[in-house]
Amino acid sequence: MKHELIEFLKKENIELYGITDATRCRVKLAHVLRRAGFASCEGEEGKTPRSLLCLCFPYFSEFPKNLSAYAAARDYHAFCDGFFRRFTALLASAYPQYTFCGFADKSPYDEVYAASLAGLGKRGDNMLFLTEKYSSFVFLGEIVSDMPCEEWELPKRSIEDPCIHCGKCKDACPGYKAEEFFCLSALTQKKGELTPEEEGIIRRYKSAWGCDICQKVCPVTQNALKNGTIYTPIEYFKSNITHELTTELIENMSDEEFTARAYSWRGKNTVLRNLKILNEE
Ligand code: SF4
Ligand code: SF4
Repeated sequence: MKHELIEFLKKENIELYGITDATRCRVKLAHVLRRAGFASCEGEEGKTPRSLLCLCFPYFSEFPKNLSAYAAARDYHAFCDGFFRRFTALLASAYPQYTFCGFADKSPYDEVYAASLAGLGKRGDNMLFLTEKYSSFVFLGEIVSDMPCEEWELPKRSIEDPCIHCGKCKDACPGYKAEEFFCLSALTQKKGELTPEEEGIIRRYKSAWGCDICQKVCPVTQNALKNGTIYTPIEYFKSNITHELTTELIENMSDEEFTARAYSWRGKNTVLRNLKILNEE
């Protein structure tokens, strides 16, 4: 990859990235690909997607008190929008004959599969994307391009499966222990009134938003914590952290502040309801 692009990624503190062949990746949302000017299958109008530059955005700064680590910093979509704007502008000037488009979360491709093919990590038994350095505390993103893989001039990455299939994630998961499976993370994000049983679960696990239990017990996480590699070097994810959710914090947040947070997804009432349940303890 051209020197200025490598330097750009270095400055952005992004070191886990790799190339994969777009034709090997699974298209999940064809309309998203088409909207970006690419053909989603043979014979369709648009540029042919040839390569995916997959990237990991590490976000871990701490385990906050009663919310998931991914929600501690400001929402990653805003970070990715800015990052992709800066990066695709550089790419377009370095390779004017090709098209580049960045995606994160709402990706046309199966992001986990594409990032595995790019050699960044593998899906663990906890169903999360596991990397050696940051464990599962990464957001995934990718640049889709009609530039052939070899023109990126990036060495091929490969990684051994970081998951050792120890079963600790399943053993620790409160949902697996229950008669009927549930995910605490999904429960805290459920809108409306909860049943007394659901309220009891929130109280027992003391979560106002999300769940990190299966990530916390994972030996890959434990190693990354011990070695100190897990921490994000990206300023955006290091600053403006929510260490604990409280009713006062949420009630006093402006709409702008609140919508910049991942826990705003289901509205203030959902988080306030969870906090009320916790306060009733
Ligand atoms: S806890 Fe064990 S089985 Fe689960 S993802 Fe981590 S290494 Fe894999
Ligand atoms: S997030 Fe929590 S409840 Fe959901 S699968 Fe992981 S450990 Fe289980």
